[in-house]
Amino acid sequence: MSEQDKAHNAAMKKVQIRHREKMKKKTKPDRGLLLVNTGDGKGKSTAALGTIVRALGWGHRVGIVQFIKGTWKTGEKQFFARFPDLVDLEVMGQGFTWDTQDRAKDIVAAEKAWRRSVEMMSSGDYDLVVLDELNIVLRYDYLREDEVVEGLLARSEKTSVIVTGRDAPGKLLAAADQVTEMMNIRHPFQAGFKAARGIDF
Ligand code: ATP
Ligand code: MG
Repeated sequence: MSEQDKAHNAAMKKVQIRHREKMKKKTKPDRGLLLVNTGDGKGKSTAALGTIVRALGWGHRVGIVQFIKGTWKTGEKQFFARFPDLVDLEVMGQGFTWDTQDRAKDIVAAEKAWRRSVEMMSSGDYDLVVLDELNIVLRYDYLREDEVVEGLLARSEKTSVIVTGRDAPGKLLAAADQVTEMMNIRHPFQAGFKAARGIDF
């Protein structure tokens, strides 16, 4: 073994000991977690989809509510259709998009989607519930922040929830077990590219 290999070996042994000591003090979470993916960079919904893949691998039941109208065909929708017994996907009724431009209608749709979210979160039927773009609906004040945070905290003990969208509000951040902020360094959109099949939808 070279001197460099020996030094590496010794260093790794130390890291291993420290890691094992740290892990001894940790416990498995005994309840579902509240996770928030926010920030300007791409990947908030994609990271939630990645977590869904993990959950499905374990045979977990997953609920998804899309707070922005998602009538368009996406890779994830086509994929989830293969797991009808494990995945329930709800798209916010009339749906808020930049196209509706009708606040009253958007609020009705947001409230309906929120009621469905509460049903899913409190039923105890789901291991994971993803509330995609809920932050956007909060930013437009379509739902009350207090009511949403209360609903999230009142969920079934077994259920983990992922909330996505830019501009997660303060009370939600305070209530979350995990907050990840995606930071934009570069996005193909800025170079003039449209959303790409298989990457963006
Ligand atoms: P994705 O769903 O691709 O993970 P996201 O959830 O992080 O993206 P959203 O705010 O939901 O981001 O935006 C959805 C769409 O906007 C996607 O097509 C995504 O590629 C695009 N997008 C995300 N971040 C940026 C950015 N910083 N600049 C331009 N377009 C972006
Ligand atoms: Mg998104």
